[in-house]
Amino acid sequence: MFTSISGRSVLVTGGTKGIGKGLAAGFAAEGARVVITGRDAELGERTAAGLTAAGGAVWYAAGDVSDPASCAAVVAAARERHGGLDVLCCNAGIFPAAPLDEMTPAQLDDVLSVNLKGTIFMVQAALQALQESGHGRVIVTSSITGPVTGFTGWTAYGASKAGQLGFIRSAALELARSGITINAILPGNIATEGLDELGEDYLRSMEAAIPMRHLGSVADIANAALFFATDEAAYITGQTLVIDGGQIIPESLEAMG
Ligand code: NAP
Repeated sequence: MFTSISGRSVLVTGGTKGIGKGLAAGFAAEGARVVITGRDAELGERTAAGLTAAGGAVWYAAGDVSDPASCAAVVAAARERHGGLDVLCCNAGIFPAAPLDEMTPAQLDDVLSVNLKGTIFMVQAALQALQESGHGRVIVTSSITGPVTGFTGWTAYGASKAGQLGFIRSAALELARSGITINAILPGNIATEGLDELGEDYLRSMEAAIPMRHLGSVADIANAALFFATDEAAYITGQTLVIDGGQIIPESLEAMG
């Protein structure tokens, strides 16, 4: 289905679990060679081994996206292993909740450092390699929270996710002449390992707010990322794609029918 992906060198930040692991699995299934990053090395090695055992070509490189030197090291590792870098998935993210009247400067810094600055640091670190690729692609995992919707307690998170979209629009202009595209995916509620901790009641209430009445899968996100990475998507840049089962559409509960 995504034939131009085979053989491409792909780097997925936050690829050790959740949506990032799904992105790595999706690219690997299409024949790409994938490097995943994350801070927890034990988890990273385990995830890479599992995806490789399932038939993919996936390696782990330790990395912290909030540290520019670490971003450069991860890109260097991917280039060394694969001779270049074609696709960068800026997916690493954290989502601690903190009400405005309690949020400390350190908490705000953490969220912005990983989610927003981490995205920018990674793109900067990958710039030369993506230019050399000739078909460089950047795919940012944003969210509906911030760019489109709000959620009590997630002001910093929402600001970081909306900030990513401000970044991609100007970056798209700077990168356009190198043939590099940069686009963002805005997931709604996606089923990941971490969700189980939130409990059955929370899951049911989330499903009730989604017109399709079920959470999205990591494969739903990977399929969109794969499309943005194809040769066929070469003329699409600076754009956003909401993947949420229709969650942002209804204007009231009654509107859901
Ligand atoms: P997750 O399961 O908690 O996974 C987060 C990943 O990011 C892990 O691999 C984690 O590994 C990595 N990470 C965190 N901080 C990092 C750092 N400083 N440097 C490098 N890697 C780091 O989260 P998820 O639900 O899959 O979310 C992934 C992305 O999707 C996030 O950007 C999130 O905002 C977005 N999103 C998720 C949903 C959803 O429903 N799940 C909805 C909308 C948007 P380490 O902790 O080992 O570093």
